[in-house]
Amino acid sequence: MKHSTDTRAVRIAAPALEGSRPVSVPIYQSSTYVFDDPEVLADSMAVPDRSFVYGRLSNPTVRALENAVADLEGGVGAVATSSGMGAINMALLGLLESGDHVIAQRALYGGTHASIMDFQRRFGIEVTFVSGHDADEVRAAVRPRTRVLYLETIANPMCHVSDLPAMFAVAREKGLVSVVDNTFASPILCRPIELGADIVVHSATKYLGGHSDVLGGVAVFADRDLYHKVWHFGVELGSTPDPFAAWLTIRGIRTLPLRMRRHCENTEYLARRVDAHPAVTRAHWPGLPSHESYEVAKGFLPAFGGLFAFDLAGGRAAGTAFLKAVRLANLSVSLGGVETLVMHPATSSHRSLSDEELAATGIGPGTIRVAVGIEDPEDLWADFSQALDSL
Ligand SMILES: *Cc1c(COP(=O)(O)O)cnc(C)c1O
Repeated sequence: MKHSTDTRAVRIAAPALEGSRPVSVPIYQSSTYVFDDPEVLADSMAVPDRSFVYGRLSNPTVRALENAVADLEGGVGAVATSSGMGAINMALLGLLESGDHVIAQRALYGGTHASIMDFQRRFGIEVTFVSGHDADEVRAAVRPRTRVLYLETIANPMCHVSDLPAMFAVAREKGLVSVVDNTFASPILCRPIELGADIVVHSATKYLGGHSDVLGGVAVFADRDLYHKVWHFGVELGSTPDPFAAWLTIRGIRTLPLRMRRHCENTEYLARRVDAHPAVTRAHWPGLPSHESYEVAKGFLPAFGGLFAFDLAGGRAAGTAFLKAVRLANLSVSLGGVETLVMHPATSSHRSLSDEELAATGIGPGTIRVAVGIEDPEDLWADFSQALDSL
């Protein structure tokens, strides 16, 4: 029986694909899925990897992103989220209970530090901070309720590199779940699961997306039980990304290896030139032998990332003057995009800290952080050198 126009207008269906398929991953803009078999529907609600049911549980475009990142990181599965903080909070809250204890490295992304301090205040989840390069310090911090060891591959903004192989070995020895934020290295420079990590988290907003046009996060799992446990919590939390955001991130990842190579080459060039300029007391990049993490980083990183910092001899006033003097680089927070961004932590991300508190983090009043893009390195140096000369 032919339905009326009222019904036919409502029930438009996509054509079945036969004999060809799309080259690019399509955007599956559907919140819910049709089943022929009620038992398949029932089975698919309990786990992340059967049929697609409902967008908060999974979506084919989002799954393509999750599979891509799980594959690059060498994990058994991944859960994508609407931001990096979504992935970090989903993983931590999915693992921790009131009264548990976390050991975390001291140099942490600001948002992660704020979350962990909030868990302590509101849920009685305690935290001990460690340097990230001393296995005995971690052993000494372990308590009966310690559940998680939380690290970052390369930390913001001074580029401290944790001794990941040594840290994961202690986590294994003590039965802790190791979680590492691999945003700054990306799976092109570091695959922490191969070094012994249990969970890798990313802000996909940065290098994975790579074009400063999308927010996203991903958590990748070395083990199926952890994957399913955290996925369940993510479904409760509702931290799911939109399929379009997942699609933009997939498009970014397709050029990630090329971009990372250029980010690292440009950073090496710029960090060395800046380090030698008379207006600069010191550049901080783990690829420079003067960096505190140089030896540790050389042990497991093939290249040292696209972010560096430098200290201006002229302190706070020089920091502000430098930001006004650059013409090609943009004053902006965030990192990992194709364009070069500069910022002055003492007057922006870390403005609430006194000079003494700043000093404890290693950040000086004249420290500039640079997220190096993929422009021509000579153009970048021309811009930086004219700005440094003007101070
Ligand atoms: C940006 C960032 C985050 C947070 O990611 P969002 O996508 O902004 O939520 C977490 N960790 C690191 C290292 C970051 O750079």
